[in-house]
Amino acid sequence: MNSMYFTEEHESFRQSFKDFLQKEVVPHIDKWEKEGTVERFIWKKFGEMGYFGLNQPEEYGGLGLDLFYTVIFLEELQKVNSGGFAANMWAHAYLAMTHLNKEGDDRIKREYLTPSIEGDKIGCLCITEPFGGSDVAGMRTTAIKKGDTYVINGSKTFITNGVYSDYLVVAAKTNPEDKHKGMSIFIVDRDTPGISSTKLDKLGWRASDTAEIAFDNVVIPVENLMGEEGKGFPYIMQHFALERLVMGINAHARAEYAVEYAIQYMSERQAFGKTLDKFQALRHKIAEMASRVDMCKEYNYSIAKRLNDGVYVVKEASMSKLLSTKMADEVIYDALQLLGGYGYMEEYPMARLLRDSRLGPIGGGTSEILKEIIAKMVIDKKEYKPAT
Ligand SMILES: Cc1cc2nc3c(=O)[nH]c(=O)nc-3n(C[C@H](O)[C@H](O)[C@H](O)COP(=O)(O)OP(=O)(O)OC[C@H]3O[C@@H](n4cnc5c(N)ncnc54)[C@H](O)[C@@H]3O)c2cc1C
Repeated sequence: MNSMYFTEEHESFRQSFKDFLQKEVVPHIDKWEKEGTVERFIWKKFGEMGYFGLNQPEEYGGLGLDLFYTVIFLEELQKVNSGGFAANMWAHAYLAMTHLNKEGDDRIKREYLTPSIEGDKIGCLCITEPFGGSDVAGMRTTAIKKGDTYVINGSKTFITNGVYSDYLVVAAKTNPEDKHKGMSIFIVDRDTPGISSTKLDKLGWRASDTAEIAFDNVVIPVENLMGEEGKGFPYIMQHFALERLVMGINAHARAEYAVEYAIQYMSERQAFGKTLDKFQALRHKIAEMASRVDMCKEYNYSIAKRLNDGVYVVKEASMSKLLSTKMADEVIYDALQLLGGYGYMEEYPMARLLRDSRLGPIGGGTSEILKEIIAKMVIDKKEYKPAT
């Protein structure tokens, strides 16, 4: 137990969540990985257990708990070793639902946030477009006001929960002439006429439905605008602090899982008459891997604490994602090597872990884009402020 951040209540939550995952999730993972989707019943079970409402306001059915419950939720999700299953859950709870809670009005919260917490409605966040994901402000999807409606046209891609979600949180240009100030955020029902989605095949995150989504004259009521018109860009940037920390925490947790698994394997596997964990070269490899995991984990916890205290940690969260995802890829690569040929086999966990981990430096802001942001802050002394 890391008592600087985790209380006994946190730890008993961790144990009960772990038990829940072993009983309700692990027996289905291989099936979901093969089918490329997660069955609906598990969403409902997560909802019934309160797992989608950990950090959401009690007024709307959430538990209003501190961020370390979220840290535990993310860490334990990684340790069932399906990056795709984990992504479905955290993209719903920490991408789509963050916008509902922060920008949605009371009606939107009652109609979408509460059922999301209860596991009755699944959400996705649609920002990336086929023409480019890194240049968020350069997006081409438009939402043009006509009377008491907005009409959405354009397309999004690589959207997690993009096929099976019930609603979409969509970023679109309300003023296409204006790059940063012309963007707004909307809530859109899946069954609105004009929406179609195509499932994408991909290297990893196989249990997750990733989709390209087309919007063809999709008419939504003006009330479905979330927050203020023209503030979409600062809203997105503001929530990136949490989202990037989420991805940093995911990274340290999956790397930790890889190290724990490798240590266990090495204590059982023999070569040249002794177990692998007696070979100094391999012991030193583990020592280095474990140290790198711990460095990221402790950093991520300290940033989670500051975010929980209300500090705007945009630089630190970018640093967390940049280095934790790199560390995870490298540690998992080395962990696979420690299993020899078994590391390459699907019946052992490293193959999937390696595939799934590779998304870390790409999704939610690539490492190159994070370096741009960090460079602006540390070299040019640029200050990013939360949207008001
Ligand atoms: C499995 C998966 C799930 C995803 N889920 C979601 C989701 O739920 N919602 C969502 O909105 N998006 C999602 N994404 C999209 C993801 O955030 C984008 O893929 C990412 O932001 C990069 O955008 P891009 O793929 O268009 O790459 P591009 O922007 O085309 O970049 C291509 C390459 O050029 C580099 N590059 C671009 N600009 C610069 C620059 N200025 N300086 C240096 N290098 C640069 C990039 O780093 C990258 O290496 C997901 C992606 C994947 C693969």
